[in-house]
Amino acid sequence: METLSTFAYLISAICFIMALRGLSGPETARKGLIFGASGMGIAIVTTLIMSAHSWGLITLGILIGGSIGAVIAKKIEMTALPQLVAAFHSLVGLAAVFVAAAAFFNPAAYGIGALGDIHVGSLLEMALGLAIGAVTFTGSIIAWGKLQGVISGKPVVFPKQHMLNAALGAGLVFLIIMLCITQSPTFFWAIVLVAALLGILMIIPIGGADMPVIVSMLNSYSGWAAAGIGFTLQNNLLIITGALVGASGAILSYIMCKAMNRSFISVILGGFGAEVSSAGNADHGDRNAKIGSAEDAAFIMQNASKVIIVPGYGMAVAQAQHVVRELADKLKGEGVEVIYAIHPVAGRMPGHMNVLLAEANVPYDEVLELEDVNRDFAQADVAYVIGANDITNPSAKNDKTSPIYGMPILDVEKAKTVLFVKRSLGAGYAGIDNPLFYQDNTYMLLDDAKKMTENIVKAME
Ligand code: NDP
Repeated sequence: METLSTFAYLISAICFIMALRGLSGPETARKGLIFGASGMGIAIVTTLIMSAHSWGLITLGILIGGSIGAVIAKKIEMTALPQLVAAFHSLVGLAAVFVAAAAFFNPAAYGIGALGDIHVGSLLEMALGLAIGAVTFTGSIIAWGKLQGVISGKPVVFPKQHMLNAALGAGLVFLIIMLCITQSPTFFWAIVLVAALLGILMIIPIGGADMPVIVSMLNSYSGWAAAGIGFTLQNNLLIITGALVGASGAILSYIMCKAMNRSFISVILGGFGAEVSSAGNADHGDRNAKIGSAEDAAFIMQNASKVIIVPGYGMAVAQAQHVVRELADKLKGEGVEVIYAIHPVAGRMPGHMNVLLAEANVPYDEVLELEDVNRDFAQADVAYVIGANDITNPSAKNDKTSPIYGMPILDVEKAKTVLFVKRSLGAGYAGIDNPLFYQDNTYMLLDDAKKMTENIVKAME
């Protein structure tokens, strides 16, 4: 039976690896999801068979947790997914703390020794899982609060913050060693406290546009916390799955850091994007933005040879992806070349725009990433910026005081005409003004993204 379950767990681990492979590209993503779901199905059935004596409790847990998850998943708006993901990560962290507490106070039940006489190896694994779990728990709650707007998104910084974080990190190492030596509950709870504090302090200095990296970093932490639980429970599948989530989250964080031109190490240690003093608000003096209409936009686009569509968070809010596709089809029908430019942090989660465009059946080969498309703007007649803001903000290139300084942006200002669809001249997620609104070749189309695009399509007819 034991061998059979090990084999089944191995199959589901392979399914998870195939899932990750599939999810690396839009064409193979569906296949990846099927692999992931199958792997999880095999894991659940195997666990149920292996735990025949506690079916009642497991089924009750699945029913309660599953129902809550299903209701939330049905209700949640896609634009609120990042905060939901952060909230779920916090639960993984909390689970790691609970499992560690259960194993520490009843080690015999886990076969890792007796109370006060736990095998040192198990104790070390447990302490690491505990510390990472507590960091993930509080860090994720702060990230949730910032993304949900419950806590201010502005960086909270104070003098010697990095030193305090480093001291807490060193303190954690000391406490873990002391726990292994003394097996005292005092050190166990001290680890929880210090790690929980560290989780808070690592996330509060992160502000505005840098939050995407934090979401993927906490994803990675939750994976390592799960792997820690796996060691305590001596469950190989949990160790493998946790390590997969941990490693893929870390790789994603690294990719996001590169995309945002941030230092990976600073992110892991907590506290980047914090050294800027100003909110980066540009002074536009008496410059006014040019306000355009749907008719103007239709005329300009119909007379263009090349149009680049730049989607952002507002397109997701307005659910305008289908009408955007309609607009593109219309333009293509009239001989205009249309492509889409995707910034790695557009929207509110990695791949957000790709998912929306795929939902509207936009051909994948028309959707280009920042590094492949940026040169095209100089040859484009129109950049149709729909519900995007920060990802086009030139302050990232030329205003050293801006919180987004250094982040690569889509060079939409190089297009002959920039058409900006949004509801006001207000700021985006990073809370900073966008000088592009006042540029000579920019027309602001102030309306809901879906309504404005529908009106443009109508005007073309
Ligand atoms: P922004 O948040 O910078 O801008 C979106 C703009 O959309 C707003 O300025 C808003 O202006 C407009 N908008 C909102 N609703 C509508 C609507 N119904 N119709 C038309 N316009 C609308 O989004 P970007 O995509 O440009 O940039 C993403 C930002 O989010 C970056 O700062 C990024 O760092 C951050 N972020 C990204 C994450 C990720 O993983 N991708 C995760 C967390 C944060 P107005 O109100 O005037 O309409």
